[in-house]
Amino acid sequence: MQFTELSLDRRLVQSIDHMGFTSATNIQELAIPVALTGKDLMASSKTGSGKTLAFLLPALQRIMNSKALSKRDPRVLILLPTRELAHQVYSQLRLLVANTKFKAVSILGGENFNDQVKTLARDPHFIVATPGRIADHLTQRNLYLNGLELLILDEADRMLDLGFAQQLKQINTAADHKRRQTLMFSATLDHNEILDIADELLNEPHHINVDDSF
Ligand code: ADP
Ligand code: MG
Repeated sequence: MQFTELSLDRRLVQSIDHMGFTSATNIQELAIPVALTGKDLMASSKTGSGKTLAFLLPALQRIMNSKALSKRDPRVLILLPTRELAHQVYSQLRLLVANTKFKAVSILGGENFNDQVKTLARDPHFIVATPGRIADHLTQRNLYLNGLELLILDEADRMLDLGFAQQLKQINTAADHKRRQTLMFSATLDHNEILDIADELLNEPHHINVDDSF
């Protein structure tokens, strides 16, 4: 399926075109339409199958379509287990937001805390982050998630392996409101710990499992 067939804003299709992509991968073709309906989603597919754009594109589309509840709170929070993975997602997000009026930042563990406080005070629309540092900023009231519209957990199984369950629950509670949508991506969807966290964070999720990669 071509990206032009996925009901995405023309600016997004242009950005994807500039990245050199024309047809969607399987996971993109299946996940994007579901995510665009506003439903919660639990999805898995192999490494390298294009999961990043499967959540970034509907995230941008949703924010382009919606009116903010709060002008100041972030609208989309994307969580990843490690700095390296967060950096990869942030690089793709920056290419996509470049063609829009939205601001994206990354908030990662191991970086200067006070610099991050200043970054957060500039009211970004998108935050790409590792869970521990976001939990710290919530605890210290440098960040409020009351206006959050979309929470995305990428590599959820690895976040749990690294012991982030408690932080994920704290973030979930801080962002809890009726309009929020939650998308969860994971290599495996059938471990008990994954099912428990999904049960707590997701609301009647749609399940997608793609076995072949492209
Ligand atoms: P995953 O998260 O599933 O491991 P990524 O989102 O990191 O996969 O994508 C893997 C690679 O595939 C990246 O280099 C990305 O730029 C590329 N890619 C993503 N979507 C497409 C597409 N539709 N067509 C071709 N390449 C793509
Ligand atoms: Mg990935």
